[in-house]
This record gives sequence, C-alpha cells and structure tokens, in this order.
Amino acid sequence: MEQILISACLCGFAVRYDGSAKYWKNTHLLRWHAEGRLVICCPEIAAGLPVPRLPAEIQADGAHLLESDGNDVTAMYQLAAQRALQTALAHRCRFALLTDGSPSCGSQKVYDGSFQQRRINGSGFTARLLRENGINVYAEHEAELLATRLKVEEHQAWQAIHNKVSQ
Ligand code: SF4
Repeated sequence: MEQILISACLCGFAVRYDGSAKYWKNTHLLRWHAEGRLVICCPEIAAGLPVPRLPAEIQADGAHLLESDGNDVTAMYQLAAQRALQTALAHRCRFALLTDGSPSCGSQKVYDGSFQQRRINGSGFTARLLRENGINVYAEHEAELLATRLKVEEHQAWQAIHNKVSQ
C-alpha cells in the first residue's frame, strides 16, 4: 500500500509559523488516515524551528530565504527539506500531499519575498527537494488527483501480481 508524506498542519497539528493548524477535513484524507497510509511530517519542526516563528519567504533569486526581520534562514529551511526527504525515504513514500503557499511545503504557489501577501508560481524548498528525488508532490487541493492516481497504480500493481500468479 502506497504511503503518503503529508504536511502536519493539514492533519490538525498547530505547527504553522503563527501557531495555527490548517486542519483540512477531506474525505480522502480521512480514508487515507484510516488505512494507515499517512506519514505525518512538518519539515520546519523537524529542523528545530520553534512555534511560533517569524514568517519566512523565498527571495527573488529562488535560492535564499529570509524571515520578515531580514534574518537569512536559508540553511535552516534547507535542513528542513533534508529532514522531510529522509522521512519520505524511510517510509518509501512515492507521494506527498503538502500545504501550498509555504516556503517549505508549497508545491505550486509561494509568497514572492516582499512580505506583501503576494503569491506567485513556485515551490518551497521541501517540495523541490522531494521532486528532485522522484517523489510526486501534490498540493492539498489536488487530493482528488492523487486519489485517482493511487487507485489506477494500485489496480495495475494488483493486476500484475494476479497475472503472474495465474501463469
Ligand atoms: Fe505545515 Fe509544512 Fe509549514 Fe510545517 S513546514 S507548518 S507542515 S506548511
């Protein structure tokens, strides 16, 4: 059964920079939880960042990450990405469902580095590193897509086993 790396804040853990969660009651999520598929991870907490913490945004060069007071926290967020990758690999996750918009977990949108609440296309450090290592990253609003893909792939895997046994 495929395991899914999932952002801890989506599961109700109050680990976001402002001490909140982003609990997301989705039928697929509840089912995956009941099936024991979810590998819950907050990359930033895994790297030792505190709650609450200052908001951080990726800068225009795409490589540096600053907190709202100008402190360069690039190394901490790189470590966060490494920790998430280690967790994903340890659980053999080929899929991840992550909170969009985050400088770590964002997979489609991130904030533009100006701290003016402007979102642009882009990926957070964790989403990028997971993808570079072959993990399929989905944003939370793509759960339906992920559910369909899992269904198709698991059916194909079952079919392949069935064919082998019947030969
Ligand atoms: Fe949620 Fe990811 Fe941010 Fe942790 S790093 S609070 S899991 S979006």
